[in-house]
This record gives sequence, structure tokens and C-alpha cells, in this order.
Amino acid sequence: MGFLSLGCPKNLVDSEVMMGLLDRAGARLTSDVSQAEILVVNTCSFIDTAKQESVDTILEMARHKTAGTAKKLIVAGCLVERYRDEIRKNIPEVDAVVGTGELESILEAAGLSMPAAQAAASPFNIITATHAAEVRPGLESRAATHKQVVGPGFSPDIYEAEKDGALAPDVKFRAEGDHREQQGRFNRDNWQGAAHLLPTYLYDETVPRFLTTPKSSAYIKIAEGCDHPCTFCVIPNLRGKFRSRRFESVVAEAQNLVARGVQEITLIGQDTTCYGEDLGLKDGLATLLDALAKIEGLRWLRFLYAYPNRITGKLLDTIAKHDNICKYLDVPLQHASPAVLKTMKRGAGADIFLKTLEKVRSAVPGIALRTSFIVGFPGESLRDVEILEEFITAAKFDWLGVFSYSHEEGSAAFSLAGQVPKRTIEARKRRLMKLQQSISKRAKQQWIGRELVVLAEGESEETPLLWEGRTQFHAPEIDGKVYINDFGTLESLEPGRFYKAEITDAHDYDVVARITSGSL
Ligand code: SF4
Repeated sequence: MGFLSLGCPKNLVDSEVMMGLLDRAGARLTSDVSQAEILVVNTCSFIDTAKQESVDTILEMARHKTAGTAKKLIVAGCLVERYRDEIRKNIPEVDAVVGTGELESILEAAGLSMPAAQAAASPFNIITATHAAEVRPGLESRAATHKQVVGPGFSPDIYEAEKDGALAPDVKFRAEGDHREQQGRFNRDNWQGAAHLLPTYLYDETVPRFLTTPKSSAYIKIAEGCDHPCTFCVIPNLRGKFRSRRFESVVAEAQNLVARGVQEITLIGQDTTCYGEDLGLKDGLATLLDALAKIEGLRWLRFLYAYPNRITGKLLDTIAKHDNICKYLDVPLQHASPAVLKTMKRGAGADIFLKTLEKVRSAVPGIALRTSFIVGFPGESLRDVEILEEFITAAKFDWLGVFSYSHEEGSAAFSLAGQVPKRTIEARKRRLMKLQQSISKRAKQQWIGRELVVLAEGESEETPLLWEGRTQFHAPEIDGKVYINDFGTLESLEPGRFYKAEITDAHDYDVVARITSGSL
């Protein structure tokens, strides 16, 4: 079986769950698609470019199916939530589709079933066997590897996934989510070919997962869906209303991961700062971090994607209190001009954001801050861009991403007037990235001479003379790199180990380091 996972870490966790289920049911994964009898593409559909990449990958796999040994092609993920019927109609090579709320249906789609003994196995089902270590894919496209290929024996029938699956009985939502639903936030009526009902699925610690990240690091998805009204975003329509995993389930999964050698856990969700609100928890994320930080052997714990007005004093105190909670915060702000933020239905503006950042920095000194912005939102004026520039200059983020606005059918912004021409959007994006480059360059110079703990990740893709690593100030895959060019007294380094290192040089986004102590 060949498995390709596209998109973000949240989608990667879905892929790992599906691969875990398939592995448990006897499928064997291969990185050689020409050998695979079943091909799965887990798609992303967030913006146009992601959709295009998903379609291109499906078509490429369809060609493999026509020319090679593959007998079945399954498409899973966000593209299915958006274009379920279209995919089946327009790409006849696709045998089955599995939406984001139907992950367990991957077995039926593949013509496999979980042996009774496996289904009733231990409540802790994370698969980190040797083959997991072989899977070290790139960020956007991942093909799982295993030495064997799954045999035939699947049903030739096309699998019809439930279009209107029933709500899982114990799923509750926040009042905010119910309210937004009444306002039509999640409406799919204009999405021809999409299933009517929203996904409600949430994996838990009893579902097998096949880890594809390096053996020292793993993601845990603590919540799914989103209730926010951001007008540019279709994720709520694709992923459904916000829902949190049970507290005990997340803790059990984290304990199990650490027991199996994972030392770095990154909590993910569309908005992790809402964690637990649907479960009636107050300060849910802070309480969860507090519990997880106490797991012995867990060296680095972080969470991604904070909503700006949900960064509480309790959350910051919790980050400050525990040595193993990374001093790192990713808070996507999307813009800084109050006018644009108002049309985006996010509110606030540069002044409020600067106060928030000041509060964060004073509660957690030395914290690394990451954000992302969207440029070219309908109606964005030159003055709005200047306000954003002034804000970026004042805020001095450690890491910053700028994304071009993508005009998404089904988003509230789709009907807005004042489209910004593509060339203008790209010019604004370049202008902001150039500004951040100079800010980052100056900031990285300040790192020189500091001694930091570095997680060694492996030889650099550019040259075997350099190794790459990360500090607590770098989240996996997204931020700059630490290039290690001097091993000090050590003969070699081991991937997945932590070392002390001195920063000896700095570039625009990356730094260079020399190892100063053996593995910690
Ligand atoms: S917070 Fe806004 S941008 Fe983020 S997933 Fe939710 S709706 Fe989309």
C-alpha cells in the first residue's frame, strides 16, 4: 500500500491514524508506488494551490493505477469534504473516497477489516515499530515506507462512504459553535457534490497511529474543527464545529508516546487555545499543558496556533512555569489594519496586538513569537499595507509567514468587492517579506555567542558536511534552521538526541552552531 499525505500537520495526524488502522489490519506500506496494490492520497483543500496539488497528485496516482500494479485508488481528506461527488465523477480511476469525519472507513475502502483480536487490543495503540523510523518524508508530500506490499483481497465494489453519517453520541459543542451554525457559518448548501452533514469524528488513544515523524518527535491533535467566523477561511466548513478530545485521552496518548521514546510533543488543532471549552473546562489548554509537562522524559512540549484574544495570564504563567514547555508561541494574526481585520471578522488591530505581545514577552521573557499574515484581502488599501509594515517593524517577530489571499468559494469573503490584482498581492507579499528579512537578520545576530540546547535532526539536505537541528525556539518543519558545522569533541551526532551548542554565526533566518557538550 502506498500512502501520500498532503497539507498541514493536522492532516498528517489523520494520515497516521489511517495508516495505523491499515497496518493493524495487515496492510504493509511501501514508498514505491509502482509496487503498491492500493494507493491512498490524503488531500488538502484549504486554498487553491493546495487543491491543485491534491488534484495533480490524485491524477499522478491514477496514472500509476492504469500503468502499474495498483488495483485500487482511495482519496481521503479535505478535498473529499468539498468535492465528494465531483472526484468520483471526474476521476473514474478513484475507487473510494473517505472524508475527514470517516477515518475509520479507510479499512472498508481498502477492503480490509480489523481482526477481532487487534480491535480489542491494548488501549494504547501507537505503532512505533522499526518501519516508522524509516518514514522521514518531506513537509508537503509524504509516502510511507515498508518492505512489504499489501496483497489483493479487497472487494472490487466501489466503497460508498456514508454521506450523512450520524453524530457520535457523546460529541458536544460549544455554545459559540451552535450559535455560529444557526448563523450559517458551516453551511455547505452551495457546495454542490459535498456531503450535507459536517464531520464529527475525533480519534482517541485507543485508535492505532503509525508515526511518520522522526522518532523523538510527534504531534498530538487535541481538538478538531473551528467555530471562528474568519471570512476568508473555509476550514470550519471542511472540518466542522470545534470539538476537543477528552483530557484523559490526550494525557494517555502523550504518556504512551513518551514511553516509546518520543521526547518532543507538539499539540495541534485549528485553535488550541479553545481547548476544553466544549468539555466545560476553564483554562483547558493551561490545565492540559500543566498535566503533560509533568510526564517524566518529555523534554519539549509546545502547542501551535493560539487565537490572539485567548492568550490568558494562566496560559502564559503555565508556559513560564515549566522548563520543558518551549518558550514559543505561534499566534496567527492575519493582518494588523483594523479595517481589514474587521472585514475579516477577526477584530482588534495593531495597537491591541502590540499590547498582547508586550504581555506575552513580560510573562515569558525570551519567548520566540511566530505569526502569519494574509495580504491582498478584498478591499486592502496601500494604507492598510503600511499599517501592517509599521506593525511588523514594531512587533519584531522571530518568525513570520506572509500568505497571498486566496479567493475561496464558500468563504464569506467570496462575495466581497474590491479584489486586489494578483500582481499587486505578490508585490505586497515581497515587500513584507523583505522587511521581515532585515528584522530577522538583525535579531539572529543577537544569537551569536549564546549556548542553547539543540535537537540534532540529521545531515543537512544541502551537504553532508553540515547537520541540521532545532532549538526550543524552532517548531518542527516551519521555522529557520540551526546548521551544525562543528561537532566539538564528538566524532559524530545522533539524530533525535539533544546537545548543548554555541551559536557561532547567523544568516537571515538560520544560525550556525558548534557542539559544546555530549548528548544530554
Ligand atoms: S481561526 Fe479563523 S483562520 Fe483559523 S481555522 Fe478558524 S476560521 Fe480558519
